[in-house]
Amino acid sequence: MNLVFLGPPGVGKGTQSALVAKELGLLHLATGDLLRAAGRAGTKTGLEAKTYMDAGLLVPDEVVNRLVRERMEQGDAEKGVLLDGYPRTTAQALALDATLKALGRVIDGVFDLQAPDAVLVERISGRRTCGKCHAAYHVKFAPSKKGDLCAKCGGALVQRSDDELVTVKARLEVYRKDTAGVSEHYRKSGTYALIDSNRPIDTVTADVLGRAKKLS
Ligand code: AMP
Repeated sequence: MNLVFLGPPGVGKGTQSALVAKELGLLHLATGDLLRAAGRAGTKTGLEAKTYMDAGLLVPDEVVNRLVRERMEQGDAEKGVLLDGYPRTTAQALALDATLKALGRVIDGVFDLQAPDAVLVERISGRRTCGKCHAAYHVKFAPSKKGDLCAKCGGALVQRSDDELVTVKARLEVYRKDTAGVSEHYRKSGTYALIDSNRPIDTVTADVLGRAKKLS
């Protein structure tokens, strides 16, 4: 099974994708995570991508399309993939169609997570990540039991540089301008479902899993 999760920044795509991918035994392929890892590794692609990410802008399509294609060609993607944060432009959606065709696969389900802007901003601005193991927390909704330190490894919790308020606003604008249209690409396909993400995490997960299990 191959799934796509769409939605604005802060809607809970990362949280829900990780839970659903684990439950369904899919590879969780998050382009934001791939790009951040490339940035930390200091590769040419990673360093170039970081300049766009820090400004709240989209990394160029050809860079992201290549990373996704290379990752999907690896053996552990054969069990099925959950794409989180990709595609984010219509050009990426078309590139994904071509990649899937070349690999003889199809998209079985598209889940478009949505929540009001005020909720997105509150979720993003409280988000913290462990600088060491990258575990995710939220100061209000999912605080670490160790305060400013990671409950799993003791690393210091940090705010992602692109989660600061001014960058968040730019990211929401980019979403509206470039990404909201991607829903249209899938809406007619019969695989598309709009998900109300302004509900407790467990409720959203149960809703998505219930729908995904009917697809298989
Ligand atoms: P995320 O972790 O999904 O919120 O992504 C963080 C940042 O990575 C985005 O604001 C973009 O700068 C970049 N990014 C992630 N996925 C994509 C994509 N599919 N296309 C272009 N840029 C991306």
